[in-house]
Amino acid sequence: STNIRGKQSGGRLGLKVKNVIAVGAGKGGVGKSTVAASLAYGLKQFGAKVGLVDADVYGPSIPHLVGTNEKPMAQEFQGRDGQTLTRIIPVEADGLKVMSMAFFVEPDQAVIWRGPMLHKAITQFLQDTEWGELDYLIIDMPPGTGDVSLTLSQLLELAGAVVVCTPQQVALLDAVKAVQMFRQVKIPVLGIVENMSGEIFGRGGAKARGEELQIPFLGEIPMNAEIREKSDAGQISHLVTEELASTEPLLKVAEAT
Ligand code: ADP
Repeated sequence: STNIRGKQSGGRLGLKVKNVIAVGAGKGGVGKSTVAASLAYGLKQFGAKVGLVDADVYGPSIPHLVGTNEKPMAQEFQGRDGQTLTRIIPVEADGLKVMSMAFFVEPDQAVIWRGPMLHKAITQFLQDTEWGELDYLIIDMPPGTGDVSLTLSQLLELAGAVVVCTPQQVALLDAVKAVQMFRQVKIPVLGIVENMSGEIFGRGGAKARGEELQIPFLGEIPMNAEIREKSDAGQISHLVTEELASTEPLLKVAEAT
């Protein structure tokens, strides 16, 4: 869609992004980052210009998933009032522009983020990063808490959020909380994706819960060893090329935005 939404288009952040999409989950380990990266590569396959922000401060895994060891570069230039301004150049991985909390912390270093720090980091990712013109900016959210969602909703108008969950009952309860959290900060929920469905966790739970909550069900992604292998090997883009690009969830998100 060429629809430019509200504040985000060249607004006070100076972002030239048509659609900002948050990918969230009620808890960790459900495949949120995998879905966020797949969504990004899938949309890129459709010909869109896409950026991916890893805002999962508690476990930033995007650089690993997309297989990059690079660090973003800083570019300094003279502002209008003579001040030196620094712009961050995102890392490129298989044609995708990427920024991650992981770029700024040592591996294995646990980070305790206080609200104001988190707010500042997210703002820098959006405001001080040279994204150029993008059709989509996908944001991999931290699971659970609402801090980052609140910051995002204050900074810009999101096209919406995709909620990822597994078919287990406990995961579904957490997903409901994630949906409520997005609704609270007025981020529209585009839909729910059931990941890891199949023999082990069952299937169909997310669809039923989505109907109860009046949220579109975007589709299911099976539990699949290849998905884990490709993610571990930093080859998530290969996976998308071969399998995920044409999946239902992706098409529905593209339609919804
Ligand atoms: P989260 O971001 O929710 O913490 P990740 O995307 O990091 O979750 O996924 C957690 C683990 O599960 C990773 O090792 C990933 O490769 C694996 N995984 C995710 N989705 C699937 C799937 N559909 N089939 C098999 N493994 C998966």
